Amino acid sequence: MSEKSSGALGKGKQAAQRQRKIEIKNISRIFTIRRNNNEEKKDFTAIENVNLTVDKGEFLAIVGPSGCGKSTLLDIIAGLSKPNSGEIYIDNKLITKPDLDRGIVMQGYALFPWRTVRKNVEFGLEIKKVPKNQRKEIIDKYIDMVGLNEFKDRFPYELSGGMKQRVAIARALAYDPEVLLMDEPFAAVDAQTREILQDELLRIWEETNKTIIFVTHSIDEAVALADRVAVMSANPGTIKEIIEVKLPRPRRVSDVISSADFSWIRHKVWELLQNEEKESDKFVKQEKKPVKNLAEEISTYAEL
Ligand code: ADP
Ligand code: MG
Repeated sequence: MSEKSSGALGKGKQAAQRQRKIEIKNISRIFTIRRNNNEEKKDFTAIENVNLTVDKGEFLAIVGPSGCGKSTLLDIIAGLSKPNSGEIYIDNKLITKPDLDRGIVMQGYALFPWRTVRKNVEFGLEIKKVPKNQRKEIIDKYIDMVGLNEFKDRFPYELSGGMKQRVAIARALAYDPEVLLMDEPFAAVDAQTREILQDELLRIWEETNKTIIFVTHSIDEAVALADRVAVMSANPGTIKEIIEVKLPRPRRVSDVISSADFSWIRHKVWELLQNEEKESDKFVKQEKKPVKNLAEEISTYAEL
């Protein structure tokens, strides 16, 4: 399917200013699933013909019903899994594996259990060969930003789920990748920390011109953060519509969410999702789809 876009409020960036960063071309991903005690195999199309272009410096959010293929798509952009068809290009270069141009913050994309918080955050800097004497300052800055100063020397097993997620965010930001791929990165942190991290992410993005693809199940979060919100539909997963979010920049989450423009865009995304949830419920009833979230059972994460 082709990329549809609806404007919401004001005028967008001029076409001449835009520089294409990520190009997602006709991506499909089919999983072979087993039924009836492994006897019966069946192909399941998780995402089909996804086309999407993300500009350099753009903040794109993706929302969609559970199981519509958001994580599958992000995994492929990260280079952690391969599509059955289609290609992804970053700066016109075909993506075949994870690389340091992309920072990844995903559920299940675990920390290194044998490394302390500090050492986890240092990882990308080592690979990037940042000189040792420059690393400490960078590590301290990002650990401080995610509020884990007192936990620098702890190991992942000594941290709560939300704290681990914050380490993952610091690790992804520390080596300064041009592209950030984030899969519900703030889902496991408490509301107060979430707002701090959302604002920090906005600030970093404003300062560094990173390109961000941010998956969330929160419509508020998507609209508050993004330049565009891609709404996915399920069975098979594809991009249903893209809503432009022309709220003023620089933004702070607490400022935008109380505005009338925010409510209007939020409602638009909500309506699209409502229709989508109804459609996907119908499908589940008709097909008696047996597996709700195989992704969590079958982990296909590759080594970095
Ligand atoms: P979302 O992130 O939107 O909730 P996912 O991308 O995790 O959805 O999954 C999309 C669909 O593909 C789901 O129905 C899920 O069960 C299925 N799926 C994901 N990963 C696998 C896998 N490794 N094997 C089989 N099915 C999978
Ligand atoms: Mg997911």
